[in-house]
Amino acid sequence: MIARLSELWLAPPATVHGLRRLLSRSAPPHALLFVGVEGVGKRSLARAFAAAWLCPQRTPDGHCGACEVCLRWSEEGQHPDLRVLRPDPDQIKIDAVREVRHWASFAPTIAPFRFILLEEAHKLNPAAANALLKTLEEPPERYGFLLTTTASDLLLMTIRSRCRIVRLATLPVAPLTAHLQARFGLEPDMAQMIAELAEGAPGRAIRWAQMLNAEPANRRGTATELQVLRALLDLFAQLGQAPLEDALRLAEQFREMCKRLEASTPDRSTRSALAMGLDYLLRWYRDSLVVELTGGTPQFQAYREPLSQLARRFPPAKRLHDLTHLVSARRAILRNANPQIITESLFLQLLSDAQ
Ligand SMILES: [Zn+2]
Repeated sequence: MIARLSELWLAPPATVHGLRRLLSRSAPPHALLFVGVEGVGKRSLARAFAAAWLCPQRTPDGHCGACEVCLRWSEEGQHPDLRVLRPDPDQIKIDAVREVRHWASFAPTIAPFRFILLEEAHKLNPAAANALLKTLEEPPERYGFLLTTTASDLLLMTIRSRCRIVRLATLPVAPLTAHLQARFGLEPDMAQMIAELAEGAPGRAIRWAQMLNAEPANRRGTATELQVLRALLDLFAQLGQAPLEDALRLAEQFREMCKRLEASTPDRSTRSALAMGLDYLLRWYRDSLVVELTGGTPQFQAYREPLSQLARRFPPAKRLHDLTHLVSARRAILRNANPQIITESLFLQLLSDAQ
């Protein structure tokens, strides 16, 4: 069943507050763009928001769950007045957008509004993005568009400017650890490790915790994903001491680990896995700056020593500069650049003394 806003209690409070205010209006906004990392709760919030508007008796907390319209939600979370569009697997093509536009030319079946949920909107190919833009410029009456993305900078500026942006912040490690312990009965060390590796994204952490508690036969995928992430951090731990000659070897190992990340989750594409690996590397660099400049607690607490080592090797200005390289590498990967070339030049940059 679709959750109400108050039931999504790991969702960022500021985001929930903003959505509640929108729900007290008389009509939905034409388009919302949910932005945040994988597993942070974009899809759950977008669904809760759509379910609220579909229900004729909505409250600022969501749908009633009991009326004729609410009872039409299927077990799988489908509804006659909701369409979901997802990439297949690395892009969303124009045919899919056209089909949805055609659907949007009809009035709602049973609900007061219709919603289109477009997941990973940054994967719209150029033709599809332009087709969507046309629809957003002249939105059909009684329709709402909900877009989600992990990389809003890859979306056409003209699409972004038509959407109200909803940013989802990640959770700090401590409350997420406490939640995992209370809900899944995990040992403190295991709960903390999962919270750290999940980058504060509750969806990812909960998925791992659920799988750890599952039957041994179902655990394999998750164990692999957690193992790969640990191995990935061990690889980053070498950056504080590896000589420049190791750059290509590290880049190759990095790509291999991203391949295993891809294989560990059914609907994750090659480029999403690479982007995810780069997200962890971004956090690593951010952590090295946090430890040094603010004296704060790093996200990857178990790696305090290698983080300090990286900080001793390269001055902060150089690492800040590296962060901008990381951001452009991630963008290039998602824009179909060659992964080998991008990762090799990235690791050369990270290990070189020059800025
Ligand atoms: Zn209802």
